[in-house]
Amino acid sequence: MNERYKEMKELLQKGKYFKLVCGAGNENVDEVRKLAVIYTLAGANGLDVSATPAVVKGCVKGIDIAYQLAKELNINIAIRPFITVSVGMPGDHHVRKAKIISAKCIKCKQCIEVCPTKAIPSNLVINRELCIGCGHCESVCPVNAIAYEHNEKGLAQILPECLKAGAENIELHAAVLGDESIMKEWALVNKIQPNHFVSMCLDRKHLSNTHLIDRIRKAANMAGDRLIIQADGVPMSGGSDDYNTTLQAIAIADVIQKNLIEKDSKFQNLNILLSGGTNSYTSKMAKLCNIYFNGVAIGTHARKIVREYLSNDNFYKDFKNLSAAISIAKKLVVESIEE
Ligand code: SF4
Ligand code: SF4
Repeated sequence: MNERYKEMKELLQKGKYFKLVCGAGNENVDEVRKLAVIYTLAGANGLDVSATPAVVKGCVKGIDIAYQLAKELNINIAIRPFITVSVGMPGDHHVRKAKIISAKCIKCKQCIEVCPTKAIPSNLVINRELCIGCGHCESVCPVNAIAYEHNEKGLAQILPECLKAGAENIELHAAVLGDESIMKEWALVNKIQPNHFVSMCLDRKHLSNTHLIDRIRKAANMAGDRLIIQADGVPMSGGSDDYNTTLQAIAIADVIQKNLIEKDSKFQNLNILLSGGTNSYTSKMAKLCNIYFNGVAIGTHARKIVREYLSNDNFYKDFKNLSAAISIAKKLVVESIEE
């Protein structure tokens, strides 16, 4: 066991793992670098990014900048964040890109207003780099003019490049049907990263509770103690900061707890990461409901609360702006894993 693995294992055992999700489909290197700076200084010990070597390098750079700034800002970074790269099966929300079918579009422009990443400009040609595949545009489109393309990536080639660029963990978004193809990709993930934690992200949109538990058993057969299950309530749904938004993240963890962890002693130490609608209420609600978890992964809400600070032209030098962003992010980290 290498030292970094041991370090991460300890964090998980203590329930102290906080992962900022930059977005599996987020290929905006500048944004990822800035988010890495803010959340590293805020105490996050995990950063989840797209499986794109340039994005991983941007994230590493952000962490390095955070270490340089830490001295000037008098902040102690306890643990260098672990970088996870996220890949997904075709059909999974996290790895798709929206496109507008112009023949159907009536140019009502409703999609522009709801896009959280400003990926839809006024000419309605979606910026693929900014699109995170959340589906908000599709849900408001009155004429079903939004379709999706899967972000095809050859895992055997791209993942080793990401590890070389500085990633340590790999996450497979595997919430679609089709066990055989998923387990083939999972075998590849385990082969490429045999010495560290590997994560499978699952939600219940397509999987019944029985399917869900069965898939976790199969994932554990290959990964053993290195397995993390990211229990994804409703993917990318963390728009509001309230109890209801985080309800499904707690519910899926409850299903796993009741149907697997409490029933089969082999799974009593299964690592569960809450995600999908997570916010500042997640940890509190999980504890109120006696839900066991090893950490919290927050994406939409965590990015939203610091968004206004990212656009500062003098981001790396304006310490007033940076300190304000760090303080907001730190509150979320503390509420999630410290209280
Ligand atoms: S919401 Fe649909 S119809 Fe309206 S502009 Fe967007 S793609 Fe076109
Ligand atoms: S609303 Fe979501 S899916 Fe649609 S373009 Fe924006 S980021 Fe992409």
